[in-house]
Parts: sequence; structure tokens; C-alpha cells
Amino acid sequence: MITFNDVASATTEVRDQVTSRWRDVVDTSRFVGGEPVEDFERAWADFCGAHYTVGVGNGTDALHLTLRALDIGPGDEVVVPANTFVATVEAIVLAGAVPRFADVDPQTLLLTGDTLKAAATPATRAAIAVHLYGQPVDMDSVGVVAGELGIELIADSAQAHGARWKSHRIGSLARAACFSFYPGKNLGAFGDAGAVVTSDPIIVERLRSMRDHGRSTHHQHETVGTNSRMDTLQAVVLSAKLPRLDDWNTKRRTLMEHYRAHLDPAVSPPVALARGAESSHHLAVVRVAHRERVRHLLSAQGVETGVHYPSPCHLMDPYQQYCHEELPVCEAAASEILSLPMHPYLKFDDIERVCTELSTAAHEAMRE
Ligand SMILES: *Cc1c(COP(=O)(O)O)cnc(C)c1O
Repeated sequence: MITFNDVASATTEVRDQVTSRWRDVVDTSRFVGGEPVEDFERAWADFCGAHYTVGVGNGTDALHLTLRALDIGPGDEVVVPANTFVATVEAIVLAGAVPRFADVDPQTLLLTGDTLKAAATPATRAAIAVHLYGQPVDMDSVGVVAGELGIELIADSAQAHGARWKSHRIGSLARAACFSFYPGKNLGAFGDAGAVVTSDPIIVERLRSMRDHGRSTHHQHETVGTNSRMDTLQAVVLSAKLPRLDDWNTKRRTLMEHYRAHLDPAVSPPVALARGAESSHHLAVVRVAHRERVRHLLSAQGVETGVHYPSPCHLMDPYQQYCHEELPVCEAAASEILSLPMHPYLKFDDIERVCTELSTAAHEAMRE
């Protein structure tokens, strides 16, 4: 059996360090905030090449609270690519704004300056660039168009920990970059956690208040906030894992190169990277005809795969109301994309087996 992800092996690597530091937290009984959260916030900002990190409860809140911190809400539109995890769109609706769905580049499956421009209207106040699969969006082209339109540019970096656009970490390129540390991500906690990375002190001040019931001082509440603080025990886990992240990402890159060398590009080409992009290789995504049949055949051979995502968000029940156009690139990709096993503990042998099985399955599905 070749598994799609391997969270357990990463857990084992940090297990002793985490349990010993957890014991210290338990001994102080300081379970909310405190040094472990502040230490991780500093380390993550440094890692991303930005001034600040605000730790929050999860990636969805990172996005939702960032929009609110930028005063984006009712009456405002936010451009978002339709082929993302539902949370990106959900965050826009939670903020009271309206999602404005964009199509994507047919090669990279990412938002570009052109697709952003095509989707924007006079009511557009912001765009969320999603570094899908860990593949950075062309931040130059999207940044120029956002500048021309006079709108805010936010990054959904939930799949792209450590990725770079032209040698800059993707946490440093937008007005704010939103991260999730859900266990299956490249940097994952032992539960839910998230963060916003920015160099703007005003956003930081607002987010720190909003994640903590809109507090200014202990009993003063200046805005309607929420309860979305990064959990102290999760901050300990993230600090233990962070020094390993670059190594893990390097392993993923080597594995992706091995995939590229062994995949049959005629039947299952990998999704392309934009020139200048250094991916975090969160997911190894190929395109293949008869995808469901191929998945089934692979599964029968003990190869676990995923689909990210089977339905673009503009076709989902709660979000259909916001889109009355076709988005041909997102819609065509949704039926072909297939995520192959990808994690730092995968072996070259495993990849060769996946590629052989995939080629056999793709040919078999074509014949049927
Ligand atoms: C995981 C993910 C999120 C949401 O993060 P949670 O921590 O699960 O709330 C948002 N956007 C993308 C692209 C993701 O992959």
C-alpha cells in the first residue's frame, strides 16, 4: 500500500520534543497565549521574511479575519479563483462580502493578472491569490493588476509553507498571507491552527484584537471580534516542526523531480509551474482522462490518491448564487486532476511503482 500522505512519520520525529515541552506548559497551567505562541509567531515571521505573524485558530479564520481587518465586508466583492478549497470562498462570505469567481491559467491552474482583470468589477475591493498545490501564483502579474485596480491583494498560502516566488518566500509578497497548520499541510499541528503573516502594523493590531473578542484591554471590547487564538499546545508542536520544514520541502522537491522523470506526459502530464515559482510541493497533481476509473484501478493496486478538488466552488450549492458564468478552465480541470502520493517519507521506488501503475491504469481506462 502506498499512502497518499504520512502524518504519522512527522509526528514520530518530534514526539519526544513535543511531549517534554507540553509537560512544561502543563506545569504552568498557562493554556492560552504565553511564550510558546509568541515564540512561534516570531519564528514564523522570520521564516517568511515578514515583520509579523498573528497566530489564529485555523486557516479559515486567518482569511476571514484578514478581510475584516482590511474593512472588507457588505457591499464589497472579493475576486477568488473557483478551483480552491472551499474555505477560501467561505471566508469571503463569513466577512459579509461577495465572492467574485475568477477562472485560472490552463497550464498552472492558478490565478493570473489576466484572469483577475477579467473577473474584477467596480465593486471589487480585494483579490485572494491561492497558491494551490503549493505552486506560487505569479505575484508580479497579479500584483500589477491589483495595483492598477486599486484593490488589496491577500494570499491564501495554506498549501504553500516555504514556497518562493522569484526567491522571495510567499509569506512576504501580499498585503497579508494566510496560513493553515491543519495536520496534513506541509507544516502541520496536532490539531487546528492558523496564522496571518504581514508587515503592516495596523493589520496586526486589528487581528490581535479580533482574534480575542475585539479586546483593547481586558474588559474593553472595541469591535465585534471572535475567539480564534492559536492554541498554546499547538504552538509548541509548530515550533518543534519548523526547523525541519525546509528539509521536508527539499525532499518533496526531489520526489517531484522523480515523478517528472518517470511520468508518461502523453497520458498524465503534471500541472505546470509558473516560471519563477518554487513550489512547496504540497500536492503532486497530474491531469488524466477517465480520472474516476483510473483512481479506482490505482486503488485496487494499493496506490492511494486524492482529488483537489472534484467540484469548483462556483458549482457548489451554497456558492452557485454568486456565479452565473461558465469558468471553462476550472470546470475542465476538475474532471481530470489527480493528486498522487506526496510526502517527505515517500521513496523513489514508491514513485516508480506509482508511475508504472498509473500508466497501466490510464491505458486500461482508455480502452474500456
Ligand atoms: C487547508 C486550506 C484552508 C483552510 O484551512 P483550515 O485550517 O482547515 O481552516 C484554506 N485554503 C486552502 C487552499 C487550504 O488548503
